[in-house]
Amino acid sequence: MSYEVPFIRPVFPFPTDLSVDFEEIIESNWFTNFGPREIRFREKIADYLGQNLHAVTFNNATSGIIAALSAVFGPGDGTKGIIIPSFTFAAGALSIQLLGYKPLFIDIDADTLQPSVESAIHIAREGKCEVAGVLLCNTFGIGNPDISDWENLCEQKSWPMVVDSAAGFGSRHSDGTLLGATGRCEVFSFHATKPFAIGEGGAVVTSDPILAESMRSFSNFGFADGLGSNQVGINGKLQELNAALGLRQFPKFEKALSSRRLALNRYREEISADFFSFPRGIEQSSVCFASVITVDHKTRERARERLIEEGVEARTYYSPVVDRQPIFAPYQDLSAPLPVTEDIAGRVLSLPIHENMKSEDLDRVIKTLNGL
Ligand SMILES: *Cc1c(COP(=O)(O)O)cnc(C)c1O
Repeated sequence: MSYEVPFIRPVFPFPTDLSVDFEEIIESNWFTNFGPREIRFREKIADYLGQNLHAVTFNNATSGIIAALSAVFGPGDGTKGIIIPSFTFAAGALSIQLLGYKPLFIDIDADTLQPSVESAIHIAREGKCEVAGVLLCNTFGIGNPDISDWENLCEQKSWPMVVDSAAGFGSRHSDGTLLGATGRCEVFSFHATKPFAIGEGGAVVTSDPILAESMRSFSNFGFADGLGSNQVGINGKLQELNAALGLRQFPKFEKALSSRRLALNRYREEISADFFSFPRGIEQSSVCFASVITVDHKTRERARERLIEEGVEARTYYSPVVDRQPIFAPYQDLSAPLPVTEDIAGRVLSLPIHENMKSEDLDRVIKTLNGL
């Protein structure tokens, strides 16, 4: 179904610019396998996000999560678990399972929608499954305001932490620093649905050069110089054409972010606060999603129906929540209690947001919600 106001509308570089890139790629006869554009793109990512960081690119963020978990935790034997919120996208839990670990689902905090430290402590206290570490999510790309509590907990428990910031490239923590420098490494997505869109693509960023090299090898069949496959691996490499797209997105990115933040501000200022609230910290994010929490489930359903009638596409990220998806049924007994996750899943609504969103489209969404 197509909507007059679609949920997303990625803005890509000019086709004429890309055709120049493509001609050069053909000319150089170097299409993938860490070509000159991939190298420049990875360097730009690392420079953009902070100092002394190393970026490893991937064909998508999910490959990056798998590489990060494999490099940090090693292949699992099916007995240990990795803590992850249920209120997120399925890719993280799938990766945990694929590597031979059990996803140990935890709850979120109601005002931030971010993974709850108390819920992780509950998992450790219950002791139903040995905890190997944490795959934290910066849910909706919003920097977790309790990140230092998470770092303290993980240090105290000797849990390595990998951070899924897939939707958060360009997002900032409340102290103004960009996401990308917490945990052992952080994963970003450049999927078409994300603010920095190259179609399919991702990167993992770390301050540890040895970890970076291990993940790069993982993305390339586990190859080591002259030895062939020297560790587990996949083919997760980013193509030159996608790297070219990424290099062309960088100069436009700050403008893209401010355009998204302006649209979010209109929602925040003009949608009735009696019925809709925004998660804390969203204004510092790259606004991948304009997620609102409705006052109750009925209001969410009514809002969604009315928006559809008005030709507006809204979604319900993240519902169904991950622990309720059939493949994860075997792990439900190991989960922490998830009351906030269940409540929020029934009340969350993601409004359309993209770069250069027309003022009249924003008006239409705001008017529909205020007229329920
Ligand atoms: C988008 C997203 C992913 C998956 O990213 P891909 O690049 O599509 O593999 C994983 N985790 C979260 C939280 C996401 O938002």
